[in-house]
Amino acid sequence: MLYQFLMPLLGLVAGSALRPVVVALAVPAGQPPSVACPNCSPLPAPVWSMQALRLLSPGGRCRACRAPLGAAWLPELTTAAAFAAVAASGTGGWYAAAQYWLALLGSALLLIDSAVQRLPNALTLPAAVGTLTLLTVASAQHEHGSLVRALAAAAATGVLFSLLALGNLGMGDAKVAVSLSALLGWHSWQAALLGLVMSFLLMGAVAGFLLVARRTTRKSTLAFGPFLIIGMLAAPLASS
Ligand SMILES: [Zn+2]
Repeated sequence: MLYQFLMPLLGLVAGSALRPVVVALAVPAGQPPSVACPNCSPLPAPVWSMQALRLLSPGGRCRACRAPLGAAWLPELTTAAAFAAVAASGTGGWYAAAQYWLALLGSALLLIDSAVQRLPNALTLPAAVGTLTLLTVASAQHEHGSLVRALAAAAATGVLFSLLALGNLGMGDAKVAVSLSALLGWHSWQAALLGLVMSFLLMGAVAGFLLVARRTTRKSTLAFGPFLIIGMLAAPLASS
């Protein structure tokens, strides 16, 4: 019970450290990542620096001049929600570490994809490498699960999304899907399948709603990354 309470709090703290990364990477493709207050600090601050953390408070405003530099509390609350979902799934050990790793980077990717419709390699690649490393350690520690099944699920999803990438989906979606499938595949084939199905259903439901509400046309594109991340992070909850 204490654990279920503490992990969302840790998520709040981790989310505030994630804020500079989200702000820096939520820029159009080709633009260099940077954190700066356009009003009072014209020189960009390095993303992982005390200067960036000081500049970007959870309130979303520059501490010095109060200029808006991002949505208030959004990275913090997103990460807290993702950590709460992992804590509620009741796992432990190195497998839980892999879940938290993807919950953290997934929260950043979700926000960036929603804002600028891209999933930068600077986050998707560490997500994949970190997940596979932590699952390998879990396997070496004989934790309950299967590394072979995790790799098979990741490979199958990789092939599926590479085919889909010929259509509307991007390679960023493929990289995120591979990491999430490995995580769910470690648990079971059912979990991996359920995660994918939930992502597509969620996307379909939102796209349908937007179409009916005439907020969008048939031609406009909706970023798939957020649905992928929410669907797959929620899959362990639905299957447990
Ligand atoms: Zn300022």
